[in-house]
Amino acid sequence: MNKKIIATLFFALFLMACSNEVANDDAADVVFTNARVYTVDATQPWAEAVAIRGNEIIYVGSSAGVEAQVGANTRHHDLGGQLLLPGFIDSHLHPVAGGAYAKALSLDTFGTVDDWVRAISDYAEENRGAPVLFGYGFLATTFGRVGPTRQLIDAIVPDKPVLIMDEGFHAAWVNSATLRALNITQDTPDPDTGFSYYKRDANGDATGYLLEGTAGMAMDQLDVITEDVVVEGTGIIIDIMNAYGVTAAFDAGAIGYADMLASVLDRVEKTGALTIRLIGSYRPEGPEDVAGAIDTAMEWRRTLKGERYHYNTLKIMDDGTVEGRTAAMFEDYQGEPGNSGETVYTQEEMTTMVVGAAQNNIDVHIHALGERAIHEALNSIEVAREAAPDSTTRYAICHIQVITDQDLPRFAELDVIAQSTPLWASHDSYGEQFVSADQFRRYWRFNSLEEQGVRLSFGSDFPASGAGTLGLSPVMQIEIGHTRQSPGDPESPTQPLQSERLDVEELVRGFTIDAAYQMHMEDQIGSIEVGKKADLVVLDQNIFEVDAYDIHKTQVVLTMMDGDIVYEASLGSETVDATASTQ
Ligand SMILES: [Zn+2]
Repeated sequence: MNKKIIATLFFALFLMACSNEVANDDAADVVFTNARVYTVDATQPWAEAVAIRGNEIIYVGSSAGVEAQVGANTRHHDLGGQLLLPGFIDSHLHPVAGGAYAKALSLDTFGTVDDWVRAISDYAEENRGAPVLFGYGFLATTFGRVGPTRQLIDAIVPDKPVLIMDEGFHAAWVNSATLRALNITQDTPDPDTGFSYYKRDANGDATGYLLEGTAGMAMDQLDVITEDVVVEGTGIIIDIMNAYGVTAAFDAGAIGYADMLASVLDRVEKTGALTIRLIGSYRPEGPEDVAGAIDTAMEWRRTLKGERYHYNTLKIMDDGTVEGRTAAMFEDYQGEPGNSGETVYTQEEMTTMVVGAAQNNIDVHIHALGERAIHEALNSIEVAREAAPDSTTRYAICHIQVITDQDLPRFAELDVIAQSTPLWASHDSYGEQFVSADQFRRYWRFNSLEEQGVRLSFGSDFPASGAGTLGLSPVMQIEIGHTRQSPGDPESPTQPLQSERLDVEELVRGFTIDAAYQMHMEDQIGSIEVGKKADLVVLDQNIFEVDAYDIHKTQVVLTMMDGDIVYEASLGSETVDATASTQ
């Protein structure tokens, strides 16, 4: 037989072999069988099998039923009873801002000075080729009034600039090489004596402690955060998110990098590193931006847009934090008469922005931790609901640490999404001292909101989670939202009220379909349904059945985003890189 006849014969045999299977055009590319599929779809909560073609889910049902979707080239994953969920959605974090610091040295804020010096020394050793060493995270008060000094770093890194920002990014600790590189001498004037200045010794020499504006100027002049650094770092953060099963996210703002954001997102997407769907926001910096806020938000919505990202939301930052005693309350902070925190915007300014957003169908995301900031945010939304009743705007208030009894039902009445980070609902022994007993009992009222019928969406707030990259883990968050205790520790104190614990199902909804709703994407993602995007995660244990204190130990087996496997535990982290580079 000549080669042509052999080839024809093989082709005929191939066709015969396929005859019992679906024609290749219609067959699934991937099927998952023998799984515990929790769909987050109320009409069919549980299934055994899912079929994917391209980037779409084409079948959800039984392992027997999925056979009809199998073709000659279908890849088959027998999950052996493992749990399959919709890909997790992180409804509030800062992936680009976090990306800027992904490769920087991160100090343990509550460590000792010795710990920090040792960490800087190790980091210098690991980054011998770097022209500048940059880090963050020391607690400035540890050094007392004097502040940190250049000599501590000179002893370990004498020859190249080192700049370490404090945990709140208000001050920098630098060495002598940095002072030389910036040409800071006895004659260098302070931009704002007593506020933005160079701490000096008795001789008038800078000690190496740079406060407020001088720290930011030093960061700029040393060029520690370049666009290349942000692009690479954002890719690293996205890889970590994929490894935790996250396939979509809301960027609550990359303040400080707004000028490079368009270019960063474009580059991250073009290099194939954008293996999540990303909705993002424009955040005005303060009252001076109120008048132009809606125009800017609309401009971003029109231009900051790619295949997988869209910056279409207005983020309004209205107060600070409870630990900083800057969250806006109705009562004074304990031991601080006259200080009940502050809102960034007046009620009128807030209403101007929220109504403007409603009139232009821009989604709104308001940062409010304190009960007064939350109250005023609800007031503005109430006005906007009346001013623009047909608006498609969705409103979320994020963090929602302390809520009054009177405002609880208003979330439901005004259809406001309650966004928060369950990680913070383990017992807050540090923050307890700053608030009244009554306020402490009104912390993180997740179940009260749930019972009112409010949609809750959850996210990490990374890099501000307070737990490093572990904060990015939805299963860690789910355990804490369920127990309100320290992970894995049934003996640890419970954050009051204990009745505010949520069921695992409710927490999963907040990390899937209700987060998708907040992002205006519930018709595409957030549940496992025919016609939705193939964003899925496989977990190694059933978080609905394991002991509550073991949920955080759950490992992600596989993450699929848009039909592609973007993380697979058995192949290690190389899978992530391989997938990213082939897209
Ligand atoms: Zn945030």
